[in-house]
Amino acid sequence: MQLRSARLDELELELVEPFETSFGVEKRRRFLLLRLETRDGLEGFGECVAALDPLYSSETVATAREMLVHHFLPRLFRLRSPGPREFRNAVAAFRGHRMAKATVESALLDLAARSRGVPIARYLGGRRRRVEVGVSVGIQPSVRLLVRRVGAYRDDGYGRIKLKVRPGWDDRPVGAVRRAFPEVTLWVDANQAYPSAAGPRIRRWATQHRVEQVEQPFAERAIRAHAELARGAPFRVCLDESIIDPVSLEDALAAKAITSLNVKVGRVGGPLTAAELARTARRARVPSWIGGMLESGIGRAHNVQLASLAPFTLPADLSASDRYYTEDLIDPPFALGPGSTLEVPNGPGIGVSIDERVLRKARRSSRTYRP
Ligand SMILES: [Mg+2]
Repeated sequence: MQLRSARLDELELELVEPFETSFGVEKRRRFLLLRLETRDGLEGFGECVAALDPLYSSETVATAREMLVHHFLPRLFRLRSPGPREFRNAVAAFRGHRMAKATVESALLDLAARSRGVPIARYLGGRRRRVEVGVSVGIQPSVRLLVRRVGAYRDDGYGRIKLKVRPGWDDRPVGAVRRAFPEVTLWVDANQAYPSAAGPRIRRWATQHRVEQVEQPFAERAIRAHAELARGAPFRVCLDESIIDPVSLEDALAAKAITSLNVKVGRVGGPLTAAELARTARRARVPSWIGGMLESGIGRAHNVQLASLAPFTLPADLSASDRYYTEDLIDPPFALGPGSTLEVPNGPGIGVSIDERVLRKARRSSRTYRP
């Protein structure tokens, strides 16, 4: 496989509704899309999940662009056989910038699968035809609106509900949702918003409202606080931001600070590492699931393909297109199927077609690089 070009588009998509977490509100999503083209006309896509501001992680659209243009694309162009594994090895010495690395590795994985004419799922050994998904519900202006929102998602068919929480928005809203929907599978995610000393309080309300999983309540490096919360808890303690590579996962497992693993391809530097981490977790009897970063249909297609692998046993944060965007970049958009599932697209690579019209409309800038 010989590369002809790499096109980097900066896109902007309007969200159906603002998404609020413990660290801020997002109304639209601005992101980079990498399109690799081979000499024989194949295209591979990689969506960068870095946001405009360094809130979820230290990476941004600007830092990702800098790293891609000045470090990663030049390395990519120097590879004799440009595959995902070869690229991962070539940039292993560069510290951090995992979202930027994952963008290239994802596009190469798309290309590798397309060149064999199979979906990424099959290329990686995934067996599931449909993957179970849930919905992540942002912080709402009032408890009443939250309950209404959750009700609407339940009516849409979502089986698992994850509520974003933070100090001051936890016991009361979570309790209200539990009372309104006694049977719903309820998870919460704090995105590191609590001080380590808040453990006993979190344990109290999470237990009382039968929360099944508490995700990343404490700071990224607060492994001990997560371990204390997990000890004897009637809910799983899930780590997201804390797990960035194999070493951080092994340490968290050894410390018994993790009983569920949120896997995000961007956070861990690429789909190959993402799959390896899930396998490591499974050997320690810790279930994995795919987290979401408000991806467009392209990033979501990558995630759905990955979620078909055996170790991803918990419902993913991958909702239908209309949960996020009025117009998605893919055709047809993802739709929620029976039993709160999304179908794993069966075409080559990511398995979906790009809607070039929507893409042109969303494009704010574009540059093409050549070997
Ligand atoms: Mg999270």
